[in-house]
Amino acid sequence: MSNIFSGGSHDLDLSNGATAVFIDVLMLAVSDLASEDWDFRFATLLTLQDQNVMGRGAVGFDLAEFDWGTTERERARAKHFVLRATALAASGHRWSELGYHPPRVHNYLHRFATMVESCVPPAESSAARGFPGPHEAAMASCARHRVLSALPLWDGCFLCHRPHH
Ligand SMILES: [Zn+2]
Repeated sequence: MSNIFSGGSHDLDLSNGATAVFIDVLMLAVSDLASEDWDFRFATLLTLQDQNVMGRGAVGFDLAEFDWGTTERERARAKHFVLRATALAASGHRWSELGYHPPRVHNYLHRFATMVESCVPPAESSAARGFPGPHEAAMASCARHRVLSALPLWDGCFLCHRPHH
C-alpha cells in the first residue's frame, strides 16, 4: 500500500514508512515557519496525514485540491510558504528530534518541491476538497515539543504520539 501526493503532472508515490518520514520533517519545518492563517491550515492538513490516526495507506493529497487563496497575492504567498517549509525541512531542520535518521527524505522533499514549483494554484477554490478551513487551523503548539497540533482533533503533536517513545 502506498500514499500518493500529486500536483499537475507530478506524483510522489510513497510507501507508508516513507510517508511518515516525509510528513514528520515537513511538520517540524512548518511548526517554526507558520505565521499566517493559511500556514496553520496547511499544518492541519499535515496532521491529517498521520497514518496512526487515519489508517495506513489511506492518506495523501493533491495540490489541485488545496484552497490556495482568493487573490493572486494570497496564492503566490501560500505556494511560497510551502516551498520555504520544504527547503527548511531539506536543510535537516530539527531532524535530531525525530529519534531516527530519516532515510531518502532528501529525494522526497526535492521531488515535492519540483511538484509545488510547477503547480499553478487554481483561482477558484471549488475544487478544494478536504483542505482544512480557517476554523480548522492548527493553532495549538505542543508545549513539550513546540510542534503544531490540530486541537481539538488531536491532543498533542506527532512526537507525543510516536509509537516507540
Ligand atoms: Zn508533542
